[in-house]
Amino acid sequence: MHVKKNDLVMVTTGREKGKTGKILKVINKKNRVVVEKVNFIKRHQRPTGQLRQGGIIEKEGPIHVSNVMIMCGKCNRPVRIGRRFLEDGKKVRVCRKCGEVLDV
Ligand SMILES: [Zn+2]
Repeated sequence: MHVKKNDLVMVTTGREKGKTGKILKVINKKNRVVVEKVNFIKRHQRPTGQLRQGGIIEKEGPIHVSNVMIMCGKCNRPVRIGRRFLEDGKKVRVCRKCGEVLDV
């Protein structure tokens, strides 16, 4: 996977094209990610206990990882990423356009 939780990404294809958001969840097995405020789906929720009301709730649904690209804060646009080793041997992801390190 080229993305991680909390990455800022842009949706590049499909109904939600052009939307940006933070990755809330990565589902490695299915190569899918859940992006904040993207791909809302309606879910039927059963009431549980006394606190929660049943009914229809809207929640972000997972989308395929190939439909998103990482946003580079410096370029302010979605970019391809490369990999680089830092001096201490740590592997980081970098923007292929400007070289900005995208891992913190
Ligand atoms: Zn960049």
